[in-house]
Amino acid sequence: MTLSYLNLVGNAELVKQLNYAMIYRLIIQQSPISRIQLAETSGLAPASITKITRQLLKKKLIKEVDIQQSTGGRPAVSIEAQFENYQVIAIQLGRTSVNIELYDFGGNSLVFQRYPLTDFTQRLAQNYLINLIELLCSEHSKKIKNLVAISVVMPGVIDSVNGIVRYTPHIDVKNWPLAEVLKNKFNVSAFVGNDVQSLALAESYFGSTQNVADSILIRVHRGVGSGVIINHQLLMNHNQSACEVGHIQVNPLGERCHCGNFGCLENQVVNAEVEKKAKRLLEQGYVSKLTPDQCDIVTICNLANQGDDLAQKLIKNAGENLGRAVAMLVNIFNPQNIVLAGEITKSPEILLDTINSALNSQSLKQLRENVSIHCSTLNDCSAIGAFALVQQSLFNGSLLMTMLEDKK
Ligand SMILES: [Zn+2]
Repeated sequence: MTLSYLNLVGNAELVKQLNYAMIYRLIIQQSPISRIQLAETSGLAPASITKITRQLLKKKLIKEVDIQQSTGGRPAVSIEAQFENYQVIAIQLGRTSVNIELYDFGGNSLVFQRYPLTDFTQRLAQNYLINLIELLCSEHSKKIKNLVAISVVMPGVIDSVNGIVRYTPHIDVKNWPLAEVLKNKFNVSAFVGNDVQSLALAESYFGSTQNVADSILIRVHRGVGSGVIINHQLLMNHNQSACEVGHIQVNPLGERCHCGNFGCLENQVVNAEVEKKAKRLLEQGYVSKLTPDQCDIVTICNLANQGDDLAQKLIKNAGENLGRAVAMLVNIFNPQNIVLAGEITKSPEILLDTINSALNSQSLKQLRENVSIHCSTLNDCSAIGAFALVQQSLFNGSLLMTMLEDKK
């Protein structure tokens, strides 16, 4: 503890990195902004602002713009971020598909491609990813001015600090050093991370939780994952995993989960489970527009929105179970926002009503009064989470310094 504190105060390089990061972040978030405003907001000396902006200008990360004063007179020079000179390849590795996307530095998607995933060993999956990246680079070379980073997200336990995939449910891996492999192969910065944690980060940079410090995102898909943002930072523990919300027990009498416990949230609300329940209730004679052949989660949501009793019952049941977990999270973390993502959010009103009533009866009044629950505004099937890891390293200054020190 004492040692790391001494390291921090003694590390002039780190202070420099944090100052550059702060100025770059201010320019992105408040642009157009003048150098005087930057000095006032950041507390740095005007000479430091001049030096930092000069370097950012040289690298074409920012540009100067003339802003006409409302009082007339000479236009004042302000600064804006410039996104089109640098690109990032972001990849979402799903269980059966790979979504590969090219972004500019502003998080604008330039290319989106989806490929099937059929190779489930570490070596084959790695070769496949390298081939897909090479293909994207050659097919869209005109859109790539400077490829700065490659980022990959996937479910599982991902050590994003060391860039190692420790466990992912669909590929047989053994401490897969994916970030290092990609860095060496393509000579760019490389990042790996958990898909849902990264999506929570993306929501806080580009989505609905931009204006709050504390939020939790829960995604329901084939599993249930979550990411916790505290004071604008992704919560990470020693193992790079935190808040395994899918294995909170919500029904002690429920079926056995693959983790060994009974009645885990994941077992109650994932898409396949809701679809299985629909089939079972149809067999029991429930009258509905759903049929055993047409009862996928999207159809269930659509029919629930149209007033179908059985479809509504299924969404409410999922909402009650999600509500129990949400109430626990509110009691523990007291976030300002809870964001839901996944197909089940296509029936937002019924889902949110049920979750809110669970929250009202199962959480502390003083805590829940501050919480707003809503559905994600981002496409959870895009690779925006992978891009968010790159944004994170720009905002903490580490990638920014790598770029500024590059003599190219
Ligand atoms: Zn479980």
